[in-house]
Amino acid sequence: MEVQKINIRGVYFANVTMDEAASFVEDRVKAGEVTAIYTPNPEIVQMCIEDNSFYEVVNSAELIVPDGIGVVKASKILKTPLKQKVAGVELGERVLDIAARNGKGVFLFGGKDATRTESGVSVADQCIPIFEKKFEGIKVVGTRDGYCKKDGEENDETIRHINESGAEILFVCLGAPLQENWIYKNRDRLPNVKVYLGLGGSLDVYSGNVKRAPKLFIKLGLEWFYRLLCEPKRIGRMMKLPKFYFGT
Ligand code: UDP
Repeated sequence: MEVQKINIRGVYFANVTMDEAASFVEDRVKAGEVTAIYTPNPEIVQMCIEDNSFYEVVNSAELIVPDGIGVVKASKILKTPLKQKVAGVELGERVLDIAARNGKGVFLFGGKDATRTESGVSVADQCIPIFEKKFEGIKVVGTRDGYCKKDGEENDETIRHINESGAEILFVCLGAPLQENWIYKNRDRLPNVKVYLGLGGSLDVYSGNVKRAPKLFIKLGLEWFYRLLCEPKRIGRMMKLPKFYFGT
């Protein structure tokens, strides 16, 4: 399946619906083609604008979808409208379903380790029983919390761990720009992996530690506002957004 790419301030977004994004991924999984999926929101586009070297990292992904109503709005202002917002959390669930139906092992990398959670179980490990209930036949073949070092020997250990698990689908949930940089730097060292997803805080959502906004907020394009209400410290990050819309 060919996807049309739309340039939004230098980032090449795929002009796809959620269903199209999922079939693109499934076709490539079946064909054994490597696919990195990034889900930039306006903050990530703004990071590229402020540090041009990040463009190469972001644009290296085979599928870039707009996780944020702000990117979709910008596409309309630029008169090159994207079809819709493709929320990373939801696309991640579609990929889990693809993995389960095609018998592909999943590895979850990222999120808090056992010492940082109330239950004493890492966030990635908390996801396992939830996924097993929701996606029949899914095989989560390994997990690694996101608070290890991302370079040197500790990172070699992470790579070995993923390779030994035989995983073909890898969730990298470290937040931006850590996760995109990690995938970009390490993808050549992971010969089994066919799908990489850079998915920020999605393990926190799957595990039930963080709630998504109520449906009405999502429908009105106000999910970002709900997140701001829940986590007021995000204001520092969000202050960058007017720059994204109006230029520097
Ligand atoms: N995180 C991590 N390692 C780090 C820093 C962050 O695993 O060194 C995790 C953190 O626990 C959270 C996610 O990365 O689950 C970042 O979530 P956030 O909501 O900030 O990311 P966004 O989805 O907004 O990019």
